[in-house]
Amino acid sequence: MKYRTFAKINEKVSLLGMGAMRFPEEKDGKVDENNAVSIIRAAIDSGINYIDTAYPYLSGQSEVIVGKALKNGYREKVLIADKMPIWLAKDENHMKEIFNTQLKRLDTDSIDMYLVHSVNVPNWKRVKKLKLMPFLEEMKKKGKIKHIGFSFHDSYEFFEEVLDDYPWEFCQIQLNYMDKNIQAGIKGLKLAAEKGIGVIIMEPLKGGRLTSAIPPAVQKLWDSAETKRSPAEWAFKWLAEMPEVTLILSGMSSMKQLEENIRIITSDDLTILTDEEKKLINKVSDEYNRLIKYSCTGCEYCLPCPQKLNIPDLLEYYNEWNTYGQNPSTKMEYIDWVAKGRHASDCIGCRKCEKKCPQNLPIVQALKEASEAFGI
Ligand code: SF4
Ligand code: SF4
Repeated sequence: MKYRTFAKINEKVSLLGMGAMRFPEEKDGKVDENNAVSIIRAAIDSGINYIDTAYPYLSGQSEVIVGKALKNGYREKVLIADKMPIWLAKDENHMKEIFNTQLKRLDTDSIDMYLVHSVNVPNWKRVKKLKLMPFLEEMKKKGKIKHIGFSFHDSYEFFEEVLDDYPWEFCQIQLNYMDKNIQAGIKGLKLAAEKGIGVIIMEPLKGGRLTSAIPPAVQKLWDSAETKRSPAEWAFKWLAEMPEVTLILSGMSSMKQLEENIRIITSDDLTILTDEEKKLINKVSDEYNRLIKYSCTGCEYCLPCPQKLNIPDLLEYYNEWNTYGQNPSTKMEYIDWVAKGRHASDCIGCRKCEKKCPQNLPIVQALKEASEAFGI
């Protein structure tokens, strides 16, 4: 296993971390606990020493499974990462209850790496309102938390603001070769590293979209490489080559996936990427971008919609659907997401949005296609 060190806190971690959000299921759809425990322990036996869970993962079962897997001497071998889902906390007391539930589920006295989960503008306001940071500091003093960090999903500008707002010990951002200029992006990675804050990478394979249902034009490009590698290998290499990356999280849901990821991460030439190979990855990224059907820039000039549709986000889901080979995970995420808001099929065709769109996008047509594609 390869290891890197979180600069500010001097914690040595495996370059590959285990995300505990997806596990094998039994026939009735329930998580196969024994299998999940075996996968976590096999990961630790292979040298992985960072296990990432969260309160909402698998409706709480993830924390329980991690707790079970870390019995019999495994707890001492790893850093546990867990997170506060501030959007679920009704008030300060409930926030504290959530924290105590996490300790109970994990069956541990302390959480090594504690993150504010999914920081964005509304969640950050809630962090302030419920005084989460003073509470986490109190927990740190009591020894119930070792290090405080945050995971992030918002603009680069807001990332900069959050980074300067608190003496963070580490942070977690979404990054892969398709998202290099999205959210915190490469710029955010470099900025955090400049400030001495270690960076954990999530979504290295874009939720599996970069490794399954590869469009033929993209596959042709990969096939043209002098040294043949799997799409996962290219994605991990692209990240590992950057010294600012401290740890790459991957949600491994089978032994096969775990073994494949370990093979990639431990390969001798993992951090070597030639100029030719970098060019090839850029070409693949351009090809994926070419497949984007509706080039929405996310400017939001089309809003507000009288039906309260979040037009740019709906278009983003539909673009992802087309670009990444109609991947089932896009559909699942879309269905999850629309459960909290309005569907593409709620569009009444008034075309108010189209009149304001600087890209002249046929929004009504796009939403019609999206609702047909996602069946909702
Ligand atoms: S056409 Fe549809 S998406 Fe556009 S403003 Fe009207 S209801 Fe909203
Ligand atoms: S105005 Fe057009 S480009 Fe801007 S967010 Fe709306 S659909 Fe996208």
